[in-house]
Amino acid sequence: MIIVLKPGVTEQEINHIVEKIEKLGLKPWVSKGVQKSIIGVIGEEDVLRVQPLEAFPGVEKVLSILKPFKLVSREFKPDDTIIDVKGVKIGGKQIIVMAGPCAVEKKDLLLEIAREVKKSGAKILRGGAFKPRTSPYSFQGLGEEGLRYLREVAEQTGLLVVTEVMDTRDVSLVEKYTDIFQIGARNMQNFNLLKEVGQSKKPVLLKRGMSSTVKELLMSAEYIASNGNLNIILCERGIRTFTEYTRNTFDIIAVPLVKELSHLPIIVDPSHATGKWGLVRPACKAAVAIGADGLLIEVHPSPEDALSDGVQSIVPERFDALMRELKAVAKAVGREI
Ligand code: PEP
Ligand code: MN
Repeated sequence: MIIVLKPGVTEQEINHIVEKIEKLGLKPWVSKGVQKSIIGVIGEEDVLRVQPLEAFPGVEKVLSILKPFKLVSREFKPDDTIIDVKGVKIGGKQIIVMAGPCAVEKKDLLLEIAREVKKSGAKILRGGAFKPRTSPYSFQGLGEEGLRYLREVAEQTGLLVVTEVMDTRDVSLVEKYTDIFQIGARNMQNFNLLKEVGQSKKPVLLKRGMSSTVKELLMSAEYIASNGNLNIILCERGIRTFTEYTRNTFDIIAVPLVKELSHLPIIVDPSHATGKWGLVRPACKAAVAIGADGLLIEVHPSPEDALSDGVQSIVPERFDALMRELKAVAKAVGREI
């Protein structure tokens, strides 16, 4: 349920409504927007039906949210959410690029990649220390050592860090080193993991599951939000279809669709969406043109030696050329990069 407040509602009036809702055992979420302020109410709303909430001072109207996702829905918050990560704003005019290797391999290699991507305009360093590999015999990541390298390199270069957490038992460890938690495609519906990162204050990059619908993605975001963390960045990274020549199918229309349904920012991962380095460039251009708030790009100076996802990693020189090209696309759609 959403309580839409009158323009000019006072703090005192808001507090009065909040107290009333809490007394009824429900959870109020106050959202102060540019256009209007609202209070979202989560819980067994039936008790509110007998309460004449419209009669409270400051209340304009009371609406039901018909969608299964509530806190992350556009109805709950009409204005776009901008996630501020140490001054880097995701969801605003600037398109934020996160780049780096698929996996953290060696510290000096990570530093080399970080310096290159920073120079070309990336704001956030990506790299997995815990890798979800199809085969148990493939490189599984460096674990805490990899997290330490990410933090050290981030401090040295002035980049922020996004890295995957795969297990509820590692959330507090990863939290010590990262600026943004990444929840990978394979864990999009690991509900215990979602609840755990929902209890943190750190932003969460939630990747779409490889066989998930947009509704399921938003329901997973709702798990994080309903546990108290609304700092969620969604990510379209391709879904499984019957295509033969790409690793996944880049569901490009998910970007504006998510924006219609939700106030959360959405970024695109062209590397996993296509699985081929040669397709990363056109996928990035399309993503920016259609309104993505950011990109997550795998970059490696020597893709043939990469310990994971070399075939979809671009070399720093191509990344630099791509960033230049994207500036023009961003400008054409009223954004900047
Ligand atoms: C990754 O970002 O390296 C990754 C494993 O992505 P996904 O979870 O989308 O497959
Ligand atoms: Mn990868």
